[in-house]
Amino acid sequence: MTRDIQDLPLSRSTTVGSIRIHALEAGLQWLDGGAMFGVVPKPLWERRIPADDRNRIPLALRCMLVEAPGALVLVDTGIGNKEDEKFRVIYGVQNEGTPTRLEDAIRQAGFEPSDIDIVLDTHLHFDHAGGNTLRDEDGRVRPAFPGARYVVQEAELVFAKSRNERIRASYLEANHAPVTEAGLWDLVRGEVEITEGVHVLPTPGHTPHHQSVLVRSGAETACFLADVCPTSAHLPLPWIMGYDLEPLVTLESKRGLWTRAREEDWLLVFEHDPTTAWGRLDPDADKPALREGVVA
Ligand SMILES: [Zn+2]
Repeated sequence: MTRDIQDLPLSRSTTVGSIRIHALEAGLQWLDGGAMFGVVPKPLWERRIPADDRNRIPLALRCMLVEAPGALVLVDTGIGNKEDEKFRVIYGVQNEGTPTRLEDAIRQAGFEPSDIDIVLDTHLHFDHAGGNTLRDEDGRVRPAFPGARYVVQEAELVFAKSRNERIRASYLEANHAPVTEAGLWDLVRGEVEITEGVHVLPTPGHTPHHQSVLVRSGAETACFLADVCPTSAHLPLPWIMGYDLEPLVTLESKRGLWTRAREEDWLLVFEHDPTTAWGRLDPDADKPALREGVVA
């Protein structure tokens, strides 16, 4: 079990049809295990991911790089480098790099951050969109990928800016306002093909306008789940995070995904799983579970 960022390879690669994808490790965070598993009792979840002495569990900040035929696409951006020491201690952030571990992982996969054409945000929580922007040496916060277009659901951006008391600790303005100021957003509505082979699929519940990402090539599909199912331990339908704003909506999003994933043998990519980057559902299991031998 991963307890340190060094336990995870910076980049793991595979192919979906003729498209190459890379699981990039942008660091770790440590979050309250109870909050991560909602109504699931601790004796059940701690068998899957053991907690530390503060009841926290390690979570990856895994992003996905897609070598689509028409564009190099980065899905989610980790936490970034803008937060102060207090924040980093509270959330147990380990993402040191040049300037963060995400950029190191992009280079490990054979690219430079400036090669990214499209940054695709599943939603705008700080552990998914924090690396959208970086603080430079002059202390100025600017887009981390100035040559890229940034994509998110239009309603997710509106929601992030609404900042009510229940959501505002998760939506930090510095992660989206500089992108707006630079005019870099391409806002989308619903299910859309972003570039050849890369589609966004609304999977609401965690937030009302959360989206997952499908990579399709030939007969193969990979699905970057994001927070509809953050780790492989969250595969069972009722294992839903306490953070989710609409857990019953998450339940139906997952039910629909697992039906399609089984039928089409999708490769499922987990953003926060502390060890497993991806796997495929076992078609013979009565509950959603990963097939042995096809996990990495
Ligand atoms: Zn989230």
